[in-house]
Amino acid sequence: MNNNLNFADIILPLPLAGVYTYSIPDEFKNQMAIGKRVVVPLGTKKLYTGIVQALHNNAPADYKVKDILSCLDDFPVINNFQLKFWDWISQYYQSVLGDVYKAAIPSGLKLESQTKIILNEEFVADNALSKTEDQILNILSKSKDVSIASLNQATGLKNTLPQIKSLLDKGAVVIEEHISSGYKEKKQEFVSLHSNFTEEEIGEILNGLKRAKKQQELLYSYLNLSKHYFEEKPEKVSSNELLKSVDCSRAILKSLVDKNILKFYFEKLDRLDLSSINTTGLKELNPHQEIAINEIRDNFEHKNCVLLHGVTSSGKTEIYIHLIEEQLKLGKQVLYLLPEIALTTQIINRLKSVFGNKVGVYHSKFNDSERVEIYNNVLENKTDKAYQVILGVRSSVFLPFNNLGLIIIDEEHENTYKQFDPAPRYHARDAALYLANLHGAKTLLGTATPAVESYYNAQTGKYGLVELFKRYQEIEMPEIIVADIKEARRRKMMKSIFSPELMSHMTESLENKEQIILFQNRRGYAPYLECKSCGWVPHCPNCSVSLTYHRHNNLLVCHYCGHGMTPPNNCEHCGSSGLEDRGFGTEKIEEELLSYFPEAKVGRMDLDTTRKKNAYEKLIYQFEKHELDILVGTQMVSKGLDFDNVGLVGILNADSMLNYPDFRAYERSFQMMAQVSGRAGRKKKRGKVLIQTYTPEHEIIKNVVKNDYFEMYSSQIAERKEYIYPPFYRLINISLKHKNQRLVNEAANYFANSLRKIFGIRVFGPQSPVINRIQNSFIVNILLKIEKKSSPAKAKWILNQQANFLKEIEKFKSIQINFDVDPM
Ligand code: ADP
Ligand code: ZN
Ligand code: ZN
Repeated sequence: MNNNLNFADIILPLPLAGVYTYSIPDEFKNQMAIGKRVVVPLGTKKLYTGIVQALHNNAPADYKVKDILSCLDDFPVINNFQLKFWDWISQYYQSVLGDVYKAAIPSGLKLESQTKIILNEEFVADNALSKTEDQILNILSKSKDVSIASLNQATGLKNTLPQIKSLLDKGAVVIEEHISSGYKEKKQEFVSLHSNFTEEEIGEILNGLKRAKKQQELLYSYLNLSKHYFEEKPEKVSSNELLKSVDCSRAILKSLVDKNILKFYFEKLDRLDLSSINTTGLKELNPHQEIAINEIRDNFEHKNCVLLHGVTSSGKTEIYIHLIEEQLKLGKQVLYLLPEIALTTQIINRLKSVFGNKVGVYHSKFNDSERVEIYNNVLENKTDKAYQVILGVRSSVFLPFNNLGLIIIDEEHENTYKQFDPAPRYHARDAALYLANLHGAKTLLGTATPAVESYYNAQTGKYGLVELFKRYQEIEMPEIIVADIKEARRRKMMKSIFSPELMSHMTESLENKEQIILFQNRRGYAPYLECKSCGWVPHCPNCSVSLTYHRHNNLLVCHYCGHGMTPPNNCEHCGSSGLEDRGFGTEKIEEELLSYFPEAKVGRMDLDTTRKKNAYEKLIYQFEKHELDILVGTQMVSKGLDFDNVGLVGILNADSMLNYPDFRAYERSFQMMAQVSGRAGRKKKRGKVLIQTYTPEHEIIKNVVKNDYFEMYSSQIAERKEYIYPPFYRLINISLKHKNQRLVNEAANYFANSLRKIFGIRVFGPQSPVINRIQNSFIVNILLKIEKKSSPAKAKWILNQQANFLKEIEKFKSIQINFDVDPM
């Protein structure tokens, strides 16, 4: 193959440089290929799994090359599309390839010397293991938490990565970070008869359960589900399935097991085996949807990207499903991006009911081995078993697609598509457009409230624009009522955080058995505590923010660094004992609801209640099944959820969003309010939305009431133009960080001055952000605004160069500089 090439450029998962040249020993020359993983040394002790980026014959001039130690793959695990995509991400977002590699590949595919390996206790070898493999398993069986570095030492080998890789492939070992959740998830509990009872014995047992009706019913149900009376061999019955069939508690099942009538057993689940799914066909589109889908197809004839602007509940998802079907028929892959996992639950079910096991899901709550499985499945892309449709969050743009036909970006306006930390700080929507171009694929952006930038691109003809203003089944958009809190306060009518209007509408909805969603974009109980006598507010010792009070665990918590402490009894400033909570978060709303409506069942959906895997799913399920009357939540409840019995949506404090100091605050407030409103009255009848605000006359509130996206857009785009913001200018935020505030200020001034010499008035700052200290590091920002038509690549090159100059100054060496291109 490449047997005459002596050197390989290897991408290493390292934040600083990323690509190094190594020499290829003769024994590996035939094996080398771009996209394969190799093991290489760095420094004196460390080993890394790197990716072959290029093969050549140019010996590096400035350092002595080391040898590649081994090659891990028979076939490349990174394809050429990916390598090009990585390159683009790295250049556009000004981050090194090493960072891109780290973000793009699940840990299980990039073993390092520090990676910890654990024995899989359940492993049974089919074939003989090599001597080293045996030796490794032996070492692992004796001690926990063994790093690859110590395995190298213990085996006396320089490099055990190839053997570890082979053991990983066989399932004999796993990577430590995720073992606990991973292996539990994979096993499922089943039920069977305790022994081979004869029919007579079963009759007796059933008779004996006469007084335990529930147990008897459960046993009957088991016999039915397992087809006991029809089949020789009983069918598998899972505990869940059984319990669901008769709707009884686990305790009842437990007592049958304790009586030795039934028994539990466990089986490993093959996550990729979804063959039992029954699929239904496509839903027929209504005439409005039919027109829209035809317009999309027409636009795709001459445009690479189309924006589908369709009001909430107009049936955009059904249109996506039809378009996906077309791609699958062509044998193409489809990537369906969603902003958050919260949303995937409902969509997964809709997609799986049509496409069955062709749908794969990829998100951050999956553990690493699950991610590796999906990665490999997409990589191999075997037609009979592969996931042709990937439903995923931001990071799924990095999967090894080789034949993409369509990328759908649902809720394209969402800012969670932007990665904030660590680098690469990419925007998945914008990156997806490039990815689609690489594959010659099309991109469909969908939303009820487009990002101003996207709508501008549609207005100016860069994207096609398709609009859908009718809800499915022509249900009216909700009625929006504004409650003036200022007025209510003046008239002393605000007895709680609920205005009199909201109170009466909630009462009415509950009486009509309609569900309610309440939205407040703050989690916790109270955003801060304050001393009644002197106004002192407890702050985080590491960050410049007040601490949020959480009542359920009686803690003051920093939402930036996670620092937690018990609230002080006395004011640290004046010593008085009167600390009061100010403002309100979701927890307080929940508490007040329980005191005003003790009968109502209330659920809360925010970061604190959804940390555990499946917690979202459970809340959504409960709400769907009407096990909850009221759902209180942060922005998580605003997005794309489709419930059919929501009579009322309450937005508790519109002003906090409107007053946020950011040029996108109005746009975001509109999007947020319009989206939450969209949850009201979906299937049967028109819903109501109640917005509480101090500024009922605010233009954005008026836009929301009229559901007038275009008016919001027009005023915002005019402001963007006047104040030189995107889409007319490109922003690059340069943020400098250091523990020493004086030093970081000095560096920022120096840097801004040197940039001004080149970019002139395009440089803004330095400026302290609202929160200027996080985890004891002080932050100063400099903003660069460059004209859209000028070359961003050149500007970025200059920025990098200037940053390097700054770092060469001895006292500034330890200053951290981050670039954020197109900051959100
Ligand atoms: P959107 O994505 O625009 O918010 P959805 O696709 O979620 O809208 O549609 C809203 C509801 O209407 C969903 O419950 C969906 O199943 C239903 N729906 C939409 N289009 C159709 C159709 N053509 N046939 C049957 N049901 C539909
Ligand atoms: Zn005080
Ligand atoms: Zn903090």
